[in-house]
Amino acid sequence: MRTLKKHGVSDKQMRWEEKRLLPNKTLGDFAWKTLHEELQLVATKQDFPGMRKVYWDMLRVLEIEGKDTLHIEKALMQTDLNFNKSLGFKRVVIVNHSEEEHCEKCQALIGKEMSIQTALKTMPLPACKNCQCQYEPA
Ligand SMILES: [Zn+2]
Repeated sequence: MRTLKKHGVSDKQMRWEEKRLLPNKTLGDFAWKTLHEELQLVATKQDFPGMRKVYWDMLRVLEIEGKDTLHIEKALMQTDLNFNKSLGFKRVVIVNHSEEEHCEKCQALIGKEMSIQTALKTMPLPACKNCQCQYEPA
């Protein structure tokens, strides 16, 4: 709900959409449609921070609905890589700032440096279900 409000959807519109979409569709479908439209808008402008924000909201919607989030996590990583590339960086290093213990898969990747091109091609992140690893410019 709060996610939708942030995207400029009024209470009235929400109630109307709820009535219109139910019972065949859920509010999540409406949220998804709104986010998808916003994503297209920011993606056209190559607004990487904007894309990042939309993907985070998409993750939240999927998590609430108990759906698989891997494809959005991958899209988020891809956005980070393209953002770094647009800033003129050529290489990234995989880092993990989380205090939690890392799994073997993540542990093997942390500290690894590669070209952004290779990272985009091989997409090593997310390495596991709870992966907290990130790319940073090397
Ligand atoms: Zn990881």
